[in-house]
Amino acid sequence: MKYPETIQNLIECFKKFPTIGEKSAERLALATLNLNDEVINLLRESLENIKTKIKRCSICNNYTENDICEICNDKNRNKNILCIVENPKDIIQIEKNRIYDGYYYVLPNLISPSNGYDPSSFDIEGINNIIMGNNVKEVIIAIKPTVEGETTALYISKLLKKNDLVISRIALGIPIGAEIDYVDSLTLEMAMENRKIIN
Ligand SMILES: [Zn+2]
Repeated sequence: MKYPETIQNLIECFKKFPTIGEKSAERLALATLNLNDEVINLLRESLENIKTKIKRCSICNNYTENDICEICNDKNRNKNILCIVENPKDIIQIEKNRIYDGYYYVLPNLISPSNGYDPSSFDIEGINNIIMGNNVKEVIIAIKPTVEGETTALYISKLLKKNDLVISRIALGIPIGAEIDYVDSLTLEMAMENRKIIN
């Protein structure tokens, strides 16, 4: 026997989320039954609005409900640095840690010819607009160290070279608390390359 249709539909919807399998979807659907009306209303409203109200910032591509996001609107940030990330959630993570006070740019995609994103289609204009508008002195590239990530980082640094800019890449290496013999060889190689003189 199957659950009543409403529950079954909810299970099918939850299964569309990343990392959620059949069992987790079932648990979430049943847990929804126990939510109070206030939460259910908020959930309904959020689901209705997520596709209509959420847009990309016209300057940096971050998520926003306005034309320009909260960060681009904040005039108190450091105009001279720009951090390039892959996803709006990377901005949330960096902001949560209060480790950076410059502006951001979210890449629409990484260069990945197998997915149809050739270097020739890479649009540097959005990044250049911020560099010119803010008189940026340093660009920090904070994208993941995969083949696509590396290719994109190199390509961006090549395109920006003509500007009088410092271009840096966030350090890649061993996570805090990790045992060296458990770290994979690529990470170890990166950690060696990114070593820092300490005296
Ligand atoms: Zn923005």
